[in-house]
Amino acid sequence: MSLYKQEKLAGWGNYPVSESYVLPVRDAGDVAGALERGTLIARGLGRSYGDQAVNDHCYVGDCTKLNRFLAWDAAEGILECEAGVSLEEIITVFAPRGWLPMICPGTKFVTIGGAIANDIHGKAHHIDGSFANCVLSFTILLADGRVLTASRTEHADLFQANFGGLGLLGVILTARLQLRKVETTYFKQQSIKIRDLDHMLEALDSYDADYNYSVAWIDALAKGPKLGSGVLTLGNAAQLADLPPSLRKEPLKLHKNSKLTVPFFLPSFTLNNVTVRVLNRVIAFVQNSSKTFIHYEKFFFPLDAIHHWNRGYGKRGFVQYQFVIPETNGRQHLAEILTMIAQSGCTPFLNVFKRMGEGQGILSFPFKGYTLAIDFPVSKALFAFTPKLDAKVLAAGGRLYLGKDALLTETMFKAMYPQYEEWVAVKRKYDPEGKFSSNIGRRLGLIGTSTLHA
Ligand SMILES: Cc1cc2nc3c(=O)[nH]c(=O)nc-3n(C[C@H](O)[C@H](O)[C@H](O)COP(=O)(O)OP(=O)(O)OC[C@H]3O[C@@H](n4cnc5c(N)ncnc54)[C@H](O)[C@@H]3O)c2cc1C
Repeated sequence: MSLYKQEKLAGWGNYPVSESYVLPVRDAGDVAGALERGTLIARGLGRSYGDQAVNDHCYVGDCTKLNRFLAWDAAEGILECEAGVSLEEIITVFAPRGWLPMICPGTKFVTIGGAIANDIHGKAHHIDGSFANCVLSFTILLADGRVLTASRTEHADLFQANFGGLGLLGVILTARLQLRKVETTYFKQQSIKIRDLDHMLEALDSYDADYNYSVAWIDALAKGPKLGSGVLTLGNAAQLADLPPSLRKEPLKLHKNSKLTVPFFLPSFTLNNVTVRVLNRVIAFVQNSSKTFIHYEKFFFPLDAIHHWNRGYGKRGFVQYQFVIPETNGRQHLAEILTMIAQSGCTPFLNVFKRMGEGQGILSFPFKGYTLAIDFPVSKALFAFTPKLDAKVLAAGGRLYLGKDALLTETMFKAMYPQYEEWVAVKRKYDPEGKFSSNIGRRLGLIGTSTLHA
């Protein structure tokens, strides 16, 4: 078994921090050795915001060394790779050949294992669905040491339960993925300044038929007649013939590696309602770009321009609160939720609003409706506020994204995801002793307690 390193480990939000024993995973043997001694959870690039890939006083299997490409079918665009390969690595190798990942979240620094475990979604969820849609099959190492291939026809229950399964069913070792053929790595984009919530929902309705990608930034400090104001960005993949001559010279251009970084945690007082109001104006200006053609890097991953931007929230960390609610009565519920947030005193920042299509895996987050993601710096006020917000989201028929959550209680989770029992039945079938465990798994009552045998 590889040597482990005791580390203070957290998710992207740097909250909560817990002591974990980090073990590099290079093959199935590394995991089997650890499982004889205690519980384990796989970890990718740590871009989940909360306690998804930490395991207090137990093992965390760092899968980022499982990063080999195994096979490539250039005719069909099917890639077989290890699960620690990142979207960034796939883009770097395959974009110049005219292929991009089918589903891109807001950062390219996520692994395939992480993308499956959270069943991630992008700006075209209402058209493309979530990550499950581009996975043909995967291999997974189970608690009893077997490695099974799971797909829609083989061990279909294991396949479905892994999308949104938070890594709690085993360690995904490899996956076969469908990539998307592209003529260029550019997108044709339009930005619309949004006056208020009615305008936002009308704009989404009227432009949805013409654009595959849509995402809005909302000013969550705006109140009264400006409630729901922001900028809506719409886009489609640009065809070669669309591009102006200057871009046509290098239509499959790759991103450059960013050199900008936040080198240390900024002081916690840096972000307050005053600085957020100023930053909101800057975001509104940048988002409302007049450029028609925009490179995938800026279109999909604007936040990747600054490494470690999460340190900007200071050592106290932050929580990303993302919920989805049904479209029925959605306008009224959104107005009430936005008003609660604006009055909470909790400094909402980076608020992203999207429309979602139908959902897939058992514990997958998306369903048809509206989703809003808000970053909140950690504070006492936040701990008092989120239970009220949870109750409001639940009353609206909604639920939270578990891949970002850090605060939900077991009772609230079970009310939001009543189908959890179906998932637990699959967990019992493939991991009856709860060998794969994590902080979020225990917090939400998806497994028993953590154990480490000396
Ligand atoms: C800036 C930013 C923007 C984002 N935008 C979006 C977005 O638009 N849409 C969206 O859906 N998400 C978004 N996310 C969240 C991110 O896509 C997910 O949290 C993703 O799962 C992170 O992948 P990771 O490799 O970092 O996994 P980690 O965070 O390390 O782990 C995530 C989960 O995957 C499991 N896991 C990791 N590897 C394996 C494996 N080999 N086998 C089994 N389980 C495994 C872990 O146990 C854990 O439960 C964003 C995150 C950031 C930081």
